[in-house]
Amino acid sequence: MDQEKIAFRTKCVHTGNGIDKETGSIRRPITMANSYRLPEDASTLNWSDPNQLVYTRNTSANQIYLQEKLAALEGGEDCVVLGTGVAALAGVFFTFLDQNAHIICSNVSYVAVYRLLHEYFPDKYGVEVTLLDTANLDEIKKAVRPNTKIIHIETPGNPTTRVSDIAEIAKIAKAVGALLTVDSTFASPFLQRPLELGADLVIHSLTKYINGHGDAMGGAVIGGKELIDKIKRQAMVNLGGAISPFNAWLIMRGVVTLPLRMKQHSESALKIAHFLEEHPAIAFVAYPGLASHPQHEIAKKQMTMFSGVISFGLKGDVNIHNKFVNSLNLIVPAVSIGHDESLIVYTGPTDERNHFYPEEFKNGHLRFSVGLEEADDIINDLKQALKKAGLL
Ligand SMILES: *Cc1c(COP(=O)(O)O)cnc(C)c1O
Repeated sequence: MDQEKIAFRTKCVHTGNGIDKETGSIRRPITMANSYRLPEDASTLNWSDPNQLVYTRNTSANQIYLQEKLAALEGGEDCVVLGTGVAALAGVFFTFLDQNAHIICSNVSYVAVYRLLHEYFPDKYGVEVTLLDTANLDEIKKAVRPNTKIIHIETPGNPTTRVSDIAEIAKIAKAVGALLTVDSTFASPFLQRPLELGADLVIHSLTKYINGHGDAMGGAVIGGKELIDKIKRQAMVNLGGAISPFNAWLIMRGVVTLPLRMKQHSESALKIAHFLEEHPAIAFVAYPGLASHPQHEIAKKQMTMFSGVISFGLKGDVNIHNKFVNSLNLIVPAVSIGHDESLIVYTGPTDERNHFYPEEFKNGHLRFSVGLEEADDIINDLKQALKKAGLL
């Protein structure tokens, strides 16, 4: 199949799948083997080749199928799939940072990234780190140094939904010879394709929208072959971040419906964000699809729709927020995002990254991942919980 000629939706269905040679089954099987039969002469074999089927920590059949699909969806040359999103992010940082390196990173990013870059890499390896608001291009331009190796952004960012301008930041990175790495988990390749905008590497937590069903963890990095090969050698062969073949198979099955799901998540979230914005008990709503979002124009430029995560706050203290969350019937209080069911998390003002958040987040916030239920059912659940919390 010529990947250039087929549409995104068609790739979601077909790419990486094939006819099983042994049985003729039209679904490739789950290969739960740790090892593969060696060639007759193994004397010159590279035992750590991450592209050859030898040992499942180095790579596995189901991993290879999924890599083929995800590379095609992001428009990248190659892909590495790992055990979690954090394994993918750590794989990037461990591969491209050394004791002389400087990295610029969004000050609002996934908590493990924050800890790796705020504490681990500077304290253990002396890596220079600048955390800043990557929605502000001037701040990035001022922060670049001759030894800047990576500019890492997360857009939309977790949990603030702040958006960074991928194309503009790619230009800054190129000018200093740094890699632009983009955590695009909140968008998925259906809504945003950073490589087309000039990024060098795209990172996903497959645990979220790409799998979409809340039943498997995984991570991926997509980009040029040379860069991905280096990550494969570090993150799988040396650091051991390999994914289980079963999880790779589950995620492969989840991706098939990605376009249908992302459309529904985005449509429902926009409707619910409008409902929240107009409700008198709501202190603030952050959703890239709202005209009131500070980077709405950038979001419109680089995303086709705005995905399913909304952050908001209530007019009330910690107790009121807790009462609200515990009064919900349909929406489940649990971490993670991008599942079929709606999920909500309340983070109080003691969050370690609270000082980086925009002013309106300082009182704590609710991160709400809008699921695939009927939007009106979700709105009715929010309404009755607001009432029970004493907010109308
Ligand atoms: C969840 C998440 C991660 C981490 O992924 P895991 O699969 O949980 O390790 C990284 N980045 C973002 C934006 C996330 O939401």
